[in-house]
Amino acid sequence: MAYQDEMKPTKQKQLLASAIETDLSRIKQLSQEHDDENWDFRSWLKQNAPDNIDGIVHGLSQKYFTLIDCKQCANCCRSLHAEFKKSELLHIATTLGQSIEAFEKQFMSEGEVNPPCPMLDGKLCSIYENRPEVCRTYPHYIPTDGRD
Ligand code: SF4
Repeated sequence: MAYQDEMKPTKQKQLLASAIETDLSRIKQLSQEHDDENWDFRSWLKQNAPDNIDGIVHGLSQKYFTLIDCKQCANCCRSLHAEFKKSELLHIATTLGQSIEAFEKQFMSEGEVNPPCPMLDGKLCSIYENRPEVCRTYPHYIPTDGRD
Protein backbone atom coordinates (compact mmCIF):
# COMPACT_ATOMS: atom_id res chain seq x y z
CA MET A 1 0.00 0.00 0.00
CA ALA A 2 1.44 3.35 -1.00
CA TYR A 3 1.82 6.00 1.65
CA GLN A 4 -0.91 8.58 1.17
CA ASP A 5 -1.03 12.16 2.35
CA GLU A 6 -3.96 11.35 4.60
CA MET A 7 -1.82 8.70 6.31
CA LYS A 8 0.27 11.38 7.98
CA PRO A 9 0.05 10.85 11.74
CA THR A 10 -2.47 13.11 13.37
CA LYS A 11 -1.94 14.56 16.79
CA GLN A 12 -4.33 11.97 18.21
CA LYS A 13 -2.41 9.10 16.61
CA GLN A 14 1.04 10.17 17.74
CA LEU A 15 2.76 7.87 20.19
CA LEU A 16 2.71 8.85 23.79
CA ALA A 17 6.23 8.92 25.18
CA SER A 18 5.29 6.24 27.70
CA ALA A 19 4.18 3.95 24.87
CA ILE A 20 7.47 3.87 22.95
CA GLU A 21 8.82 0.37 22.29
CA THR A 22 12.35 -0.19 23.61
CA ASP A 23 12.58 -3.98 23.39
CA LEU A 24 15.13 -4.65 20.63
CA SER A 25 13.72 -7.96 19.45
CA ARG A 26 10.23 -6.47 19.29
CA ILE A 27 11.55 -3.45 17.36
CA LYS A 28 13.23 -5.80 14.88
CA GLN A 29 10.03 -7.78 14.48
CA LEU A 30 7.97 -4.61 13.98
CA SER A 31 10.43 -3.22 11.43
CA GLN A 32 10.20 -6.45 9.42
CA GLU A 33 6.42 -6.48 9.63
CA HIS A 34 6.21 -2.86 8.45
CA ASP A 35 9.08 -2.89 5.96
CA ASP A 36 6.92 -2.05 2.92
CA GLU A 37 5.07 0.68 4.79
CA ASN A 38 8.35 2.18 6.03
CA TRP A 39 9.77 2.27 2.49
CA ASP A 40 6.59 3.90 1.24
CA PHE A 41 6.84 6.50 3.99
CA ARG A 42 10.49 7.23 3.10
CA SER A 43 9.55 7.68 -0.56
CA TRP A 44 6.63 9.90 0.40
CA LEU A 45 8.84 11.93 2.72
CA LYS A 46 11.38 12.62 -0.05
CA GLN A 47 8.69 14.40 -2.04
CA ASN A 48 6.69 15.91 0.78
CA ALA A 49 9.01 16.73 3.67
CA PRO A 50 8.45 20.21 5.09
CA ASP A 51 11.36 22.65 5.07
CA ASN A 52 11.84 22.23 8.80
CA ILE A 53 12.09 18.42 8.69
CA ASP A 54 15.54 18.46 10.34
CA GLY A 55 14.15 20.48 13.24
CA ILE A 56 11.19 18.11 13.56
CA VAL A 57 13.48 15.06 13.64
CA HIS A 58 15.77 16.77 16.13
CA GLY A 59 12.84 17.55 18.42
CA LEU A 60 11.48 14.00 18.21
CA SER A 61 14.90 12.46 18.80
CA GLN A 62 15.45 14.61 21.89
CA LYS A 63 12.06 13.60 23.20
CA TYR A 64 12.44 9.87 22.62
CA PHE A 65 16.16 9.38 23.25
CA THR A 66 15.64 10.40 26.86
CA LEU A 67 13.56 7.22 27.20
CA ILE A 68 16.41 4.94 26.16
CA ASP A 69 18.95 3.83 28.74
CA CYS A 70 22.06 3.07 26.70
CA LYS A 71 23.62 1.29 29.69
CA GLN A 72 20.82 -1.28 29.52
CA CYS A 73 21.12 -1.76 25.78
CA ALA A 74 24.53 -1.26 24.14
CA ASN A 75 23.10 -2.57 20.89
CA CYS A 76 24.92 0.09 18.85
CA CYS A 77 28.28 -0.99 20.27
CA ARG A 78 27.36 -4.64 19.78
CA SER A 79 26.07 -4.45 16.24
CA LEU A 80 27.55 -1.54 14.26
CA HIS A 81 30.87 -1.18 12.48
CA ALA A 82 32.72 1.90 13.72
CA GLU A 83 35.24 4.12 11.98
CA PHE A 84 37.66 5.65 14.47
CA LYS A 85 40.36 8.23 13.87
CA LYS A 86 43.94 6.99 13.73
CA SER A 87 44.77 8.71 17.04
CA GLU A 88 41.73 7.07 18.65
CA LEU A 89 42.73 3.66 17.31
CA LEU A 90 46.20 4.17 18.72
CA HIS A 91 44.74 5.04 22.13
CA ILE A 92 42.49 1.98 22.10
CA ALA A 93 45.24 -0.35 20.94
CA THR A 94 47.56 1.00 23.63
CA THR A 95 44.83 0.53 26.25
CA LEU A 96 44.60 -3.12 25.18
CA GLY A 97 48.40 -3.47 25.23
CA GLN A 98 48.57 -4.04 21.49
CA SER A 99 50.31 -2.44 18.56
CA ILE A 100 47.97 -0.69 16.19
CA GLU A 101 48.84 -3.29 13.54
CA ALA A 102 47.86 -6.15 15.85
CA PHE A 103 44.64 -4.35 16.77
CA GLU A 104 43.75 -3.80 13.12
CA LYS A 105 44.43 -7.43 12.29
CA GLN A 106 42.38 -8.75 15.22
CA PHE A 107 39.47 -6.35 15.35
CA MET A 108 39.15 -4.49 12.06
CA SER A 109 38.23 -4.97 8.44
CA GLU A 110 38.10 -2.42 5.62
CA GLY A 111 39.14 0.40 7.94
CA GLU A 112 36.37 -0.17 10.46
CA VAL A 113 36.22 -1.81 13.86
CA ASN A 114 34.09 -4.94 13.64
CA PRO A 115 31.22 -5.44 16.05
CA PRO A 116 31.05 -6.07 18.88
CA CYS A 117 33.45 -3.28 19.76
CA PRO A 118 36.38 -4.73 21.72
CA MET A 119 36.05 -1.88 24.23
CA LEU A 120 32.59 -3.01 25.25
CA ASP A 121 32.58 -4.56 28.72
CA GLY A 122 29.20 -6.17 29.23
CA LYS A 123 26.87 -3.33 28.33
CA LEU A 124 29.29 -0.57 29.25
CA CYS A 125 32.06 1.16 27.34
CA SER A 126 35.36 0.54 29.13
CA ILE A 127 36.80 3.81 27.78
CA TYR A 128 33.65 5.86 28.13
CA GLU A 129 35.34 9.07 29.28
CA ASN A 130 37.73 8.86 26.33
CA ARG A 131 35.46 7.22 23.78
CA PRO A 132 36.00 8.15 20.12
CA GLU A 133 34.27 11.14 18.60
CA VAL A 134 31.99 9.00 16.43
CA CYS A 135 30.66 7.40 19.62
CA ARG A 136 30.23 10.75 21.38
CA THR A 137 28.19 12.19 18.55
CA TYR A 138 26.14 9.10 17.69
CA PRO A 139 23.51 8.96 16.18
CA HIS A 140 24.88 12.06 14.45
CA TYR A 141 21.66 14.02 13.97
CA ILE A 142 21.69 15.23 17.55
CA PRO A 143 24.05 18.10 18.31
CA THR A 144 26.51 17.25 21.07
CA ASP A 145 24.87 18.49 24.23
CA GLY A 146 26.86 16.71 26.86
CA ARG A 147 24.14 14.11 27.44
CA ASP A 148 25.54 10.86 28.83
S1 SF4 B 1 34.44 2.73 22.00
FE1 SF4 B 1 32.89 2.48 23.59
S2 SF4 B 1 31.13 3.72 22.92
FE2 SF4 B 1 32.47 3.40 21.14
S3 SF4 B 1 31.63 1.58 20.09
FE3 SF4 B 1 33.26 0.90 21.49
S4 SF4 B 1 32.21 0.34 23.40
FE4 SF4 B 1 30.80 1.61 22.18
